[in-house]
Amino acid sequence: MAKQENEIKENRGSRKDSADMLIYLNGEFVPSSKASVSVFDHGFLYGDGVFEGIAVYAGRPFRLEEHVKRLFDSARAIDLNIPLDENQVAKAILDTIRKNKLDEGYLRPIVTRGEGTLGLNPTYCRKPTFVIIPLRTRDYPLMNLGKQPARAIVSTIRRNPSFCTPASAKTLNYLNNILAKQQANAAGVDEAIMLDWTGAVSEGTGDNLFLVKRGRVFTASLHCSILPGVTRSAVMDACGNLGIKTVESELTLADLYMADEAFLTSTSLEIQALVEIDGRKIGNGREGTITKRVKRKFEEMKKKKNER
Ligand code: PMP
Repeated sequence: MAKQENEIKENRGSRKDSADMLIYLNGEFVPSSKASVSVFDHGFLYGDGVFEGIAVYAGRPFRLEEHVKRLFDSARAIDLNIPLDENQVAKAILDTIRKNKLDEGYLRPIVTRGEGTLGLNPTYCRKPTFVIIPLRTRDYPLMNLGKQPARAIVSTIRRNPSFCTPASAKTLNYLNNILAKQQANAAGVDEAIMLDWTGAVSEGTGDNLFLVKRGRVFTASLHCSILPGVTRSAVMDACGNLGIKTVESELTLADLYMADEAFLTSTSLEIQALVEIDGRKIGNGREGTITKRVKRKFEEMKKKKNER
């Protein structure tokens, strides 16, 4: 609990600390204190939009192309027309890094349906809103949380199935994940693991889940309502390089309880050991040896130019 309170306190601080950042807003750079969007923006009114979260290491975005492609996939899933092409979006992201002299940080590109009427019909939203928010790692404590092992519960809130909202799109609709996170907060743990609508293990509220069993690494397959994480694919590549077999499958709760090791992956957490679930130790309750090896490989990947 104390850890979460610190996180909340530090996140509040981050807004003030990043007051000098320049925000990309519809093609222009504006100081964060002046960067605002309309109260009639459907991103604000209805969560009608998509976004990305991109890590910046040594002044370069990690796996930029994958993030840009996912942004366009997400937009296509909700029939949102991004006013720029993929190259122009990549350029806007690189310009945001340069303008802010961002060395180690995080970028949050957001595209909403734009300003419309109070009604939810998107037809009246004429022009999408495109924002890129940069943050320095030191102003974004979430980026350091992954260094400590995590404890989690299994949430009673399920991931949205794709026949309701597209689970594989990174949309602005995070309410079910927020409700799950509240359950983790109430239980005094770091994260909530969500199941898909069938009861298969899906992912964390903002991260993908990996299990290790007898030397093999397992993660939920794409049809288990997961977001296809960029860190998830980097981790699968890392395992490939290490000669560790990865399996994408439908995982049960029992698989999670019986795992030798588990870890969470996301842009902000990177790779975080998961050592407890529902009050039970996972494996020996400490960061496992395969988790450590994958983490080391990931550190190497962060330094490679062609990953960025
Ligand atoms: N699942 C969800 C629901 C997420 O919000 C995120 C973070 N964007 C992830 C998984 C991990 O994705 P990535 O590795 O691309 O950050």
